[in-house]
Amino acid sequence: MTSSSARSRNAPLHDYAGLLSELGAHLNGRRESGASTGLLIVHITNLKRINTTVGYRMGHNASLEFAAQINEMLRETDWMRPLAHDRYAVVLDRLKNPGHMLLAANRIARCTSSININDEVGLQLEVRIGAAMFPEQAQNAESLLRHAELAVETATLRGSIFSIYKAAETQHLTEDWDIEAQIGDGLENNEFELFYQPKIDANTLLPCGAEGLMRWHSPTLGAVSTERFIQIMEGTDHIDAVTSFAMHCAARNMSEWPAIDSELSVAINLSPSVIEQGNCVSRFKQVAAIWGVPLERFTAEVTENGIISAAGAGLDSLQEMRDAGIRVSIDDFGTGNSSLAYFKTIPADELKIDKSFVFGMLESDANHRLVRTIIDLAHGFGLTVVAEGVENAEVVKALQQLGCDVLQGYHFARPMKANDFVDYLTGSANASRRLRAL
Ligand code: C2E
Ligand code: CA
Ligand code: CA
Repeated sequence: MTSSSARSRNAPLHDYAGLLSELGAHLNGRRESGASTGLLIVHITNLKRINTTVGYRMGHNASLEFAAQINEMLRETDWMRPLAHDRYAVVLDRLKNPGHMLLAANRIARCTSSININDEVGLQLEVRIGAAMFPEQAQNAESLLRHAELAVETATLRGSIFSIYKAAETQHLTEDWDIEAQIGDGLENNEFELFYQPKIDANTLLPCGAEGLMRWHSPTLGAVSTERFIQIMEGTDHIDAVTSFAMHCAARNMSEWPAIDSELSVAINLSPSVIEQGNCVSRFKQVAAIWGVPLERFTAEVTENGIISAAGAGLDSLQEMRDAGIRVSIDDFGTGNSSLAYFKTIPADELKIDKSFVFGMLESDANHRLVRTIIDLAHGFGLTVVAEGVENAEVVKALQQLGCDVLQGYHFARPMKANDFVDYLTGSANASRRLRAL
């Protein structure tokens, strides 16, 4: 057994700190000579499945056997460390070119098919391998490790066994990780805020409701795009936390908004994963009871694609909301692959035409016809129609002519803070009083 394999057997699991300091010392030793070091992260992707099908002990032994085989084929000056039970870091010393990382990865991948435990069970491991090179792609141990991890992620996304770190390609992943890492703190530190954008009655041109839109101003990242952080949250529990926060903000504000408008309804955007849990009604009820706001003042906006992907339990959930008095609105209509006829069976009160059709409806005949068809059919099913993305007076006129019920867009107002929305409502109420007095 080489000294490096002896080290690897004795090293504790999950010892990132130990690896970082060892790798740091190694890189410092190579800095002067200008020699390159390659780092491979080998992730066994099916170990969890093996654990659950043939047992944890078997999975554990398979991982150790695999590591031993990798060790066998490494050169004297290469070394490896376990990072987790299904993850190994392999350090390739004095690399001549990046192609050698590919050769080593190929040899490692070949080991996966010959795992025999107790001379009995032939297990097939599946791996993804990410690689990065010092000093070409990282200046220190920490970033070398991070870049190799990002390359594992890229290999997974691409469905390939091996990937070498490329800055531009993985930049969005790095940023997503930065964002994801700070969302939890952001929620705890009150960095999120619900903005409101008015929904305007197309006949009276007065506000008849509002949509709650989340904003995040992070002290370290600055203003983060809503679409971006919502998308990142959607894979995590944070989406539940931010949805509850939106519900509470809306209910609290509705209870505070003075006698200006005691009927005004506020829409909350619900992600498909939130709908799928099937507990939306009880969540709304709880919030409504705390703030003393009737359920009828809430609208749940669910995207067309969300409804399709949440089918089954999702549809029941929509029906339960309607039964409880919460309005249900189908958002971003037209962007999914469903036919409008499908919505005959969807329990909904409102349909929002996606802004991409509204933007171009005066320039494109096809968009104009589409908007007209959506409005007519939706009315046929008894749905209220909202057009979003209304940016100018010409579009307002065209939508009024087509019989659209509600308008929303920058032409009337951008999403704004709760206090500004109160001023906006007060201004509209005064204007309406003046009109009535004429
Ligand atoms: P959405 O539900 O389709 O919301 C409408 C988006 O269009 C908003 O973007 C709004 O600011 C923007 N918008 C409104 N009028 C105009 C206009 O005239 N022109 C243009 N160009 N844009 C207009 P925003 O606020 O960036 O939100 C993006 C998306 O993030 C929302 O799309 C919604 O899907 C999601 N989102 C926002 N807040 C929440 C939330 O609290 N929970 C969940 N699950 N999703 C949210
Ligand atoms: Ca919406
Ligand atoms: Ca929308």
